[in-house]
Amino acid sequence: MAFCPNCGKEVSPQAVTCPNCGHPLKQTQPPAEQISAWWWLLPLFFSWIGGIIAYFVLKDRNQRTATNMLIFGIVWTIAGVIITIAFFGFLFGLAGAYTHP
Ligand SMILES: [Zn+2]
Repeated sequence: MAFCPNCGKEVSPQAVTCPNCGHPLKQTQPPAEQISAWWWLLPLFFSWIGGIIAYFVLKDRNQRTATNMLIFGIVWTIAGVIITIAFFGFLFGLAGAYTHP
């Protein structure tokens, strides 16, 4: 059972607008987030930027930590690229196995 959020009257779940007050009821479905599986890869590609920023921020105060941050950022970027290539390789390998048995 659905109720109008405006007037509180019981309405059909299929109703687009409330028959009593005309309040729009159609719940807009959020678009399928196709990017949701990939967003987490983005920081991996840019972690080297964070590493460089951290390096320049910290280098005057703590040279050792700054260098570690820079290395950490670069390593994470490389790891991200490798994970992505491996994942796409896996996907295309799978597709190839189906198209060319
Ligand atoms: Zn209503």
